[in-house]
Amino acid sequence: MLNDTLPKYFDPRKYAFNRQAFEGYVPLNRFEELSAILASDEGNVFIHLDFRVDEDRRYIATGSLTAQVQVVCQRCMEAVAHDLALDLSLGFVYDEDHAKNLPGDYDPVVMTDGEVILADMVEQEIILALPIVAYHEESGCNPTAVKYASSTDDAPDDEKPNPFSILAQLKAK
Ligand SMILES: [Zn+2]
Repeated sequence: MLNDTLPKYFDPRKYAFNRQAFEGYVPLNRFEELSAILASDEGNVFIHLDFRVDEDRRYIATGSLTAQVQVVCQRCMEAVAHDLALDLSLGFVYDEDHAKNLPGDYDPVVMTDGEVILADMVEQEIILALPIVAYHEESGCNPTAVKYASSTDDAPDDEKPNPFSILAQLKAK
């Protein structure tokens, strides 16, 4: 399944019984909530997962997720690339009650009719991993671009970054 686009739905039990692995791409535009936050929905999320049934007969998958996403630079409001790399430890359950029985290091994924929507499964983890504020490198940033991008003429003609950006930048360090 190398370099394939992963299916939209899949049955994790089938993969776990067969101790299968899967890896491939999910287009970013399949993540609706995430796309709304990003500067662009172009690109892919790459996922690798190894499935198994553990000694307590739980359906488990561990692996990783990588993506390059475009977030909004808080200084110039243009897109800035951000590399994501997450470890995944997932436990597939039938309902919230079963989720409580999972060891704490597994994130529960609730199956509907034994199936999982792949994008839903990891979307919240990606959103949580996004930087709270993002900036270009000082040299690559172009705060004056905001003037041209904005249709209003009443923006101050001031090249100093606003104090709130500086504050956020300090907090991010
Ligand atoms: Zn910038």
